[in-house]
Amino acid sequence: MFWEIFQQARIHEVESTADTARSRASDAMSSAAEVRAALDRLVLVNRAMWEILSKQHGLTERELDDKVEEIDLRDGRRDSRLKKAIRECPRCARTMSLRHARCLYCGHQESRDPFDTVG
Ligand SMILES: [Zn+2]
Repeated sequence: MFWEIFQQARIHEVESTADTARSRASDAMSSAAEVRAALDRLVLVNRAMWEILSKQHGLTERELDDKVEEIDLRDGRRDSRLKKAIRECPRCARTMSLRHARCLYCGHQESRDPFDTVG
């Protein structure tokens, strides 16, 4: 009798854990789909911008590739990723936070990079 009650409690616990895992998996799949949709939109907009620029200014794909490589190498690594570099405050020379445009020590305000909110 006691063993049966214990087993029922364990079964209920395992079912609850499975429900939680199913719910989390569903949430993760929804998030991945949202990221994929945003990425698809960014690729589309990027493609449109490139076609306008190349047509209006005569830029070549070689020039685009060279610029991509130059930007990729700014952090010292050829990894097809754009990482923010650690910066030194121009006023107090302390290390600035990568997440803030304002120096946490002296309050110096960096000029805003329009791509700060993208990365
Ligand atoms: Zn500072």
